[in-house]
Amino acid sequence: MPGHVVPPTALDLPAWRHVYSGKVRDLYEPVEPHPRGDVVLVVASDRISAYDWVLPTEIPGKGGVLTALSLWWFDQMGDIVPDHTIEAPVPDEVAGRAMVCRRLDMFPVECVARGYLTGSGLAEYRETGTVCGIALPEGLVDGSRLPEPIFTPATKADVGEHDENVSFEAVVESVGRADAETLRDLTLAIYTRAHEVAAAKGIILADTKVEFGRDADGTIVLGDEVLTPDSSRFWPADTWEPGRSQPSFDKQFVRDWLTSPESGWDKGGDAPPPALPDDVVERTRQRYLEAYDRLAKS
Ligand code: ATP
Ligand code: MG
Repeated sequence: MPGHVVPPTALDLPAWRHVYSGKVRDLYEPVEPHPRGDVVLVVASDRISAYDWVLPTEIPGKGGVLTALSLWWFDQMGDIVPDHTIEAPVPDEVAGRAMVCRRLDMFPVECVARGYLTGSGLAEYRETGTVCGIALPEGLVDGSRLPEPIFTPATKADVGEHDENVSFEAVVESVGRADAETLRDLTLAIYTRAHEVAAAKGIILADTKVEFGRDADGTIVLGDEVLTPDSSRFWPADTWEPGRSQPSFDKQFVRDWLTSPESGWDKGGDAPPPALPDDVVERTRQRYLEAYDRLAKS
């Protein structure tokens, strides 16, 4: 079964205790009460996942890029929704790739917005003409722009399991109608804003996934990471061409290599993926850096 090939190692951080590791991030809580209340330290590792496996090879600097990009985007969403970050010192060991955050009670929903059709959305559309129960026009192809952005939620799966696309009504059943509507409206507002910001830099934001939670006051807050190449599909606008898969600023090199004969790996089998060759690591590292530079630096 897919999952972690190498179990994530918890760092020995002064004043913080490890509580959880996801595929990419590790969460710590303060050993002593924290001056800012109920907080967690969210540390982005250099781990990379593909096809629901955490790969045995890390991408140096990736955790730093994800953190810097998230912080840059959080700043631009402040008038839409508050985010979980708190200005407080992080341990030196994880400087640049960690954020102190309000601890949230996370909604069990992957909040996805799509402005373009590809990936699991395209697969569902080809079978049923709908995505998460939303009917779409006929004749759309891989990479087509949708008439308007749509909310296509998914259930949060355990490590090694696939997230599953669900209907809006399934979210209503899970969290209640009022919160479901809030999550949908916030997700679409974030997508619309980010799409505009990225477009001005020659980048198409095809889709993105965000996560929300409730803080101790009951306020709905934007959590996790946002608008990174791990959570979003970014395509260079100048090469966008519906009808084929688009080159993107993410794990394309990794996915292409893993599925090539060179890797010798069977994507459908039970064996873990092999270590990545140095040139794939380097090109992937460059890709993450380029995404950051093109979005946040200019
Ligand atoms: P999963 O989300 O199912 O754990 P994952 O592999 O996506 O899998 P990561 O993204 O690596 O997990 O880990 C981040 C985890 O921290 C997620 O479970 C996310 O929901 C959670 N999280 C993010 N922000 C907060 C917060 N402020 N308070 C509590 N939990 C948070
Ligand atoms: Mg996650």
